[in-house]
Amino acid sequence: MKDYRMFINGEWTTARAGTTRDIINPANSELLARVPEAGPADIDDAVAAARRAFDSGPWRSITALDRGKLLFKLADLIRQKSDYLAELDTLNNGKPLVESKFDVTDAANCFEYYGGLATKIHGESLTVPANSFSFVVKEPIGVVGQIIPWNYPLLMAAWKLAPALAAGNCCVLKPSELTPLSALELAAMIKEAGFPDGVVNIVTGGGSPAGQALTEHPGVDKLVFTGGTVTGRKVMTAACVDLKRVSLELGGKSPNIVFVDADFEAAVDGALFAIFVNSGQVCSAGSRLIIDESIHDRFIQAVVEKTKRIKLGPGIDPETKMGPLVSETQRARVEGYVEIGKKSAAKLLIGGGRPGDKKFEKGFFVEPTIFDNVDNKSEIAQKEIFGPVLCVIPFKSEDEAIAIANDSPYGLAGAVWSTNVTRALRVIKQLRAGITWINTYHPTYNEAPWGGYKQSGFGRELGTYGLEEYLEIKQININLDEAPIAWY
Ligand code: NAP
Repeated sequence: MKDYRMFINGEWTTARAGTTRDIINPANSELLARVPEAGPADIDDAVAAARRAFDSGPWRSITALDRGKLLFKLADLIRQKSDYLAELDTLNNGKPLVESKFDVTDAANCFEYYGGLATKIHGESLTVPANSFSFVVKEPIGVVGQIIPWNYPLLMAAWKLAPALAAGNCCVLKPSELTPLSALELAAMIKEAGFPDGVVNIVTGGGSPAGQALTEHPGVDKLVFTGGTVTGRKVMTAACVDLKRVSLELGGKSPNIVFVDADFEAAVDGALFAIFVNSGQVCSAGSRLIIDESIHDRFIQAVVEKTKRIKLGPGIDPETKMGPLVSETQRARVEGYVEIGKKSAAKLLIGGGRPGDKKFEKGFFVEPTIFDNVDNKSEIAQKEIFGPVLCVIPFKSEDEAIAIANDSPYGLAGAVWSTNVTRALRVIKQLRAGITWINTYHPTYNEAPWGGYKQSGFGRELGTYGLEEYLEIKQININLDEAPIAWY
């Protein structure tokens, strides 16, 4: 049990109101840590610190090269503590250790990737119809408020902070109230790396009032949010008041389409990984398996057989393949959808409950669950469940597969399995989604833009696109004529 403080203006602080929140291990409900519960006054402090650092601190005069070096240093520090950080994310979020280790490596790589990009922020010169030297420069936006969810605690912090800092912004980041620990450890590394005070502030607290106060704060120039669509709407509404810039990475209900000519074994494994990694708590999860009717029975049988082998347990046990859900509330939400599924015309093939073993009693476990013959119009196929629940939807033709895939309010991700490259590309081209794969599911690269179509949000993270989200564009025109304009 550790008592944490939050990180404001380079210092470790309690909440002004003295309030704290207990942080729980979802595998056994044990108390892991206590963190300050920030209120609006703490958000004021954090934004003021970021404002000072941006408006009058040394950050603006630090060269891009040195910003990059700080990010490289941070990546090194993360690698030095990678085992500790992975264990912490596993204890706090519940995910298997192997997944947390992957996240930590990815987070370090993300800081390094943007460290390299810090010196590659270029403008352009323009050919204009005047005797003018006209050009464009890109500048940091200012103070950014960043709000992240609980499913990838450290990695989401990296996705937010790395591009923002590379571009020269100052940040106030609020992790989820459920999983703030690795972000606070990251704050210690940010201090150790030598970032000036106030450049990064990490505030711990609930969506309301802390998150809400951040979205409404007039000192914030841009809001960058990852989370659910309902909260995303609130963030956007708050941003409207003073027209803050906004990027939203929201939910999904992504299609995973398997054609008759797919590599059978690879597609079976892909279908499982698509939905069950991180207990299905992945925005891009392949939660709708859209399967060619002609291979449906054989395919589903293979998927169910392999699902039986998924070993549930605490993420910290190296044998565990699937951990608990992040919280009791999340489990109740998922179980609510499972009940809706059971009452629908769909057929429950496997799972649908909690594991019986007594050792799971205090954790928030849900069995991997598969519903077959799901109507794509039904609630379990349209709503984001955000848990280990797969909806299987058969199709008769390529056109029907595409129509089903696109019949969703979301448009985050999608995949096609087929050895016919022409068909695979033809289908991918018609998917209304921002992240797509052929013959694989889930690989995510720091170099590639991440974000959705439709109600999955707008703006992109990662890649050079992610950097652009943190830059303003300024044109500069230098008159090369000596003669006065003499307009009047
Ligand atoms: P959430 O409930 O929307 O919360 C996300 C963040 O917003 C948390 O830090 C939360 O704080 C905060 N928040 C809640 N209410 C707020 C308000 N009124 N104003 C400002 N902030 C507020 O989402 P979640 O349950 O944590 O995460 C799951 C969702 O994230 C899923 O829908 C998933 O698809 C989405 N997601 C999307 C991506 C992507 O890249 N597209 C990636 C990961 C996750 P508290 O936690 O303290 O309430």
